[in-house]
Amino acid sequence: LIVHLNGEFLPLPAARISPLDRGFVFADGVYEVIPAYGGRLLRLQEHLQRLDNSLSGIRMDNPLPHHAWQEMLMELLRRNGNGDQSVYLQVTRGPAFPREHAFPAHPRPTVFAMCTPIRESDPALREAGVPVISHPDIRWDRCDLKTVSLLPAVLMKQLAKDRGAFETLLIRQGLVLEGAASNVFAVLDGVLTTPPKGPFLLPGITRDLVLELAAEHGFPAQERDIPLERLLSADEVWITSSTRAIVPVTRVDEQSIASGRPGPVFAQFHDWYQARLAALRTG
Ligand code: PLP
Repeated sequence: LIVHLNGEFLPLPAARISPLDRGFVFADGVYEVIPAYGGRLLRLQEHLQRLDNSLSGIRMDNPLPHHAWQEMLMELLRRNGNGDQSVYLQVTRGPAFPREHAFPAHPRPTVFAMCTPIRESDPALREAGVPVISHPDIRWDRCDLKTVSLLPAVLMKQLAKDRGAFETLLIRQGLVLEGAASNVFAVLDGVLTTPPKGPFLLPGITRDLVLELAAEHGFPAQERDIPLERLLSADEVWITSSTRAIVPVTRVDEQSIASGRPGPVFAQFHDWYQARLAALRTG
């Protein structure tokens, strides 16, 4: 496994970060996860734009221009054999001494990137769907920033696992915002529905792609608040993320969604999404 650290490509064991790195000490950093198919990055510009938003949200400059990110990530993929891989990249405010919350006068950001093979989308999961649970959202009010302060998401994912579920849907004031590491969609009276962007959810790149597919194929879609009560009576519920694409949800808190089987709208969007990936692979 070859990783990128601060301008160098290194075998993972040779990549070293200071214990004083503010990413380690304060979780003072941001990240992105970008899927690549056949060595080609999906929606790179959108991911880099979101990286800029996350960085400006924590008052950091992007240490690299977009073209340098693109070159570096493509080289990283190449050195790891291309194919279907997801790229993880992280930027922190870097090492600083003494330990002090306020920013160092002259930060030296840490830039790290690695890739891992993408699991084939699991047909069993697609055919059976997955159970999820709901839980009050215990995060902060800048969930639109993709920061490495992920402890609430870690706890929410573990809670799902403890209960035999796949994901935890996060609830604020009775509304379903998103999953711990995914966005949420519901088919409500035939209309594909997802909560509007705002400070309480991450603007998912997959979410936007699904809305784009709906527009392209003339499928009715809306961005609208979804009360948990309404979600439970939906025709279909899905979660989306870069690494898992679209996953049908068939149970929420032990309650079946509709027939308890993945629905026809899911099957349609799954095909449209896979067609996009196939087109990307072949260029
Ligand atoms: N919401 C949260 C909190 C996430 O962590 C993620 C990604 O992991 C998503 C939504 C989905 O975003 P994307 O489609 O860009 O992967």
